[in-house]
Amino acid sequence: MKLFNTLTKRKEEFKPVNPNIVNMYSCGPTVYYYAHIGNMRAYLFMDSLRRVLKYNGYTINGVMNITDVGHLTSDEDEGEDKMEVASKRENKSVWEIAKFYTDFFFDQVKQLNIDVPENIVPATSCINDMIEFVKGLMEKGYAYETSKGIYFDVSKFKGYGMLSGTKLEDKLAGARIEVDPEKINPYDFALWIKAPKEHIMQWESPWGMGYPGWHIECSAMGRKYFGNSIDIHTGGIDHKTVHHENEIAQNDALNGKQTVRFWMHCEFLQVDGGKMSKSLNNIYTLEDLKQKGFDPLDFRYFYLNAHYSKKQNFTFDALKSSRISRLRLYDECFKHKIAENKNLDLTHYKQKFEDAINDDLNIPLALSVLWEMVKNEEKAKEVYEMSLTFDKVLGLDIEKYAIEQTKGEIPQEVLSMAELRWEAKKNKNFAYADELRNKIGELGYDILDSKEGYQITKR
Ligand code: AMP
Ligand code: ZN
Repeated sequence: MKLFNTLTKRKEEFKPVNPNIVNMYSCGPTVYYYAHIGNMRAYLFMDSLRRVLKYNGYTINGVMNITDVGHLTSDEDEGEDKMEVASKRENKSVWEIAKFYTDFFFDQVKQLNIDVPENIVPATSCINDMIEFVKGLMEKGYAYETSKGIYFDVSKFKGYGMLSGTKLEDKLAGARIEVDPEKINPYDFALWIKAPKEHIMQWESPWGMGYPGWHIECSAMGRKYFGNSIDIHTGGIDHKTVHHENEIAQNDALNGKQTVRFWMHCEFLQVDGGKMSKSLNNIYTLEDLKQKGFDPLDFRYFYLNAHYSKKQNFTFDALKSSRISRLRLYDECFKHKIAENKNLDLTHYKQKFEDAINDDLNIPLALSVLWEMVKNEEKAKEVYEMSLTFDKVLGLDIEKYAIEQTKGEIPQEVLSMAELRWEAKKNKNFAYADELRNKIGELGYDILDSKEGYQITKR
């Protein structure tokens, strides 16, 4: 199995240190607002990786943090605590905010069939581990105290910048950040922040009352669960230059050795070719898509069509095509389900599928292998069974839909009206076509059109 390692910038053969168990850390959500479909792409990527590892027979020991404290409004430790901002905005306690958006996040993740890590850990449950980590860094001479908090001295860590490939000197030359005169270097980052009285979340520490920096959270949790060796660490691409660079500095400084072996990053989801932003009013959540009549699995199918290392462009047209293809895929699989067993040799499809997923998670290619098999092969039960094997990685619930299809056959009346409607449309008799669509709707069925034809689904 080959994975692209962001650290070495090469595709490398992956093997965990312990032959059967993969220690995997995934940066989790900051729970101060609704998780959007861009965030979901990052977790769908984590899901693909977990499913492919499991397909290859590995057991995973996964950890994901929930950032419920310490992530300031900028990644460079500037601004306010995101949780406190939300608490003021919504007039709720920080704990209520954390609970509400954590529940929302896991609800979304569940609807997308995302396989979640074995250990989900709120940052606030590991404050002592973070304090111990910071103490360790101070003892080793990597950290120092100012009137504002405890800072990591980046000039002491020789490899700083290894992940993003920016040398500290180059960073300093182009520095834009405001220099705190108490810091030794402008890029020193906070490990622990001394809290003013009015700061809501604060804990006792050897340096007085305060709260942890965001980066130390992931390092301390990684250490708590995995000691000084992590096989894979995942996150979104935006974490590469600051958050993960800082994690590496903290981990490797304390452990005196390389801690994370494989770093993997998921590229961004864009909307209509650009960034999602409040001003463009294009930050969608899964709930927004559902309100427009889509199923969460339409988004999952859409996600499967791009490699995680490439930007993916979200449009409603693309989502609509995904919906049609997904439903058609179920139909094709179903035709095989109701056929006899023909003893077909499907090993070359299996081989192609496995080659694709093991080549740095080439999920789009794997999906096309499934299509090729269900379309080209003679109708046979074993094709259906193989599609279920592939679905362990794709997570499209093929079996569930096949069962529903068996139960809910479409009445002849609906089939006939749909056929008439299609004819009417082709003849540009749109008024009659709409009338028929409404009648079909009244009977509880929806019609989705595409270039090649139409699809009937039960509401
Ligand atoms: P946050 O809750 O802001 O820490 O983000 C959670 C995860 O979503 C992180 O791994 C981010 O890198 C990732 N993320 C944020 N926006 C996008 C996007 N537009 N596309 C893909 N991943 C994203
Ligand atoms: Zn993290």
